[in-house]
Amino acid sequence: MSGGRIAIPAETAAVLGRLNAAGFAAYAVGGCVRDSLLGHTPQDWDICTAARPEEIQRCFADCRTVSTGIRYGTVTVLWGAARTPFEITTFRAERGYSDRRHPDRVEFLSELRGDLARRDFTVNAMAADATGLVYDPFGGQNDLQNRVLRCVGVPAERFSEDALRMLRGLRFAARLGLSIEPETASALHACRSLLKNVAAERIRKELEGLLCGTDAPALLREFADVLCVPIPELAPCIGFRQFNYHHRYDVWEHTLHALAASEPDEALRLAVLLHDVGKPAVFSFDKQLVGHFYGHARVSAAMAERILRRLRFDGKTVSRVSALIAAHDLELAGLTERRMRRLLHRLGERNVRALLRLRRADRLGKGTERPEDVQADTAAAEELLRRLCAEDACCTLRQLALSGDDLLALGLPAGKRVGAVLRAALTAVLDGNIQNERDALMRFAQNYIRNSIQD
Ligand code: ATP
Ligand code: MG
Repeated sequence: MSGGRIAIPAETAAVLGRLNAAGFAAYAVGGCVRDSLLGHTPQDWDICTAARPEEIQRCFADCRTVSTGIRYGTVTVLWGAARTPFEITTFRAERGYSDRRHPDRVEFLSELRGDLARRDFTVNAMAADATGLVYDPFGGQNDLQNRVLRCVGVPAERFSEDALRMLRGLRFAARLGLSIEPETASALHACRSLLKNVAAERIRKELEGLLCGTDAPALLREFADVLCVPIPELAPCIGFRQFNYHHRYDVWEHTLHALAASEPDEALRLAVLLHDVGKPAVFSFDKQLVGHFYGHARVSAAMAERILRRLRFDGKTVSRVSALIAAHDLELAGLTERRMRRLLHRLGERNVRALLRLRRADRLGKGTERPEDVQADTAAAEELLRRLCAEDACCTLRQLALSGDDLLALGLPAGKRVGAVLRAALTAVLDGNIQNERDALMRFAQNYIRNSIQD
């Protein structure tokens, strides 16, 4: 039942001590105990207690408290001079999940064990008292030691109560390097369609965490069927042969290899996940029976945009990821300065940087290119990008050494043509035809205006 110890930070011990002094059992619980046992520093320390919400509020009458979760027994206390937030939740059981999302009602309990029993996985169902002594009725420490993720109780029942737990499980496994215990794994496959009942916002949050986990590729290989419930567009990619000597793998295997070769950045990993989602739709054979996917970048970008909107990703992420995907067939080898300026103009520095990483992951994921070659092309492109940015190379109208006022001074009437002349000047600079200097640009503008009037 108990055994093992973790270090409790002073502030957490003080909050637990306050509840204990008022006669209430209180423990640090969940992620903080798990992370401490793994030797990671917890992000936050959640607390569970026998005290009811009103009693929690009374205990912390001298602190600011936030009671948004009070219906479910949660009071957030802002503790001490630093106002560190602690979520303090009354021991509770959850009863009935008729909508498979929310418990029909919560029932407050007076003992820790029942509260631990409602939690999703054994590694999350541990608590520690103010001295750091660990309470572990479901064998979470053992599972952590063996690197196993296992449901508390009967997996299929737990997933039926709240289907989101399936994605949470994949996220924890991917991030903590756990393998999923067989009964939990088969329930994940069997119950996957219940994920249809889960709100898009909740799915999105878990998906982000899952994708950035170190073991995401392996988990998505084993549980691709689960991922295809929220993203059915990926299903045709699985096993889709490419019939092309540039590719060793089918579309989905290639995607997983590319994921493994990409940095754990959220927008980048989303772009990698969806970069070829349109391939099956545009596949064709040529006369030699070689496979081609003409236009797949554009089609994948459009599909990604729909998918990410449906999953309620924020607008910035949606447009960023689809812009990266639309540009992902960029040829890195021999990337010219002119092409790089145009990319910078179109996408901006941050996205170009991400695009180079996407391209690198994509090429490494083909399984047919020498990693040294990919590395060398990427390094050269990144160096070019670095140099252009260091020179503050002109890539936007804002950086152009010619303004609308300059054109008005030349006698051009205010209106649409001012913008057209500025854009023409920028294009000439991007293409390297003139320097970004005011005198040269003024001469360019005069000529341009004269010529376009003659036209
Ligand atoms: P992290 O915050 O590092 O992702 P965590 O374990 O703290 O991990 P939270 O989502 O903050 O995860 O949840 C806190 C705890 O609440 C979990 O450790 C788990 O015990 C419990 N829990 C959270 N969501 C669920 C759920 N859907 N079903 C059952 N228990 C849950
Ligand atoms: Mg947490």
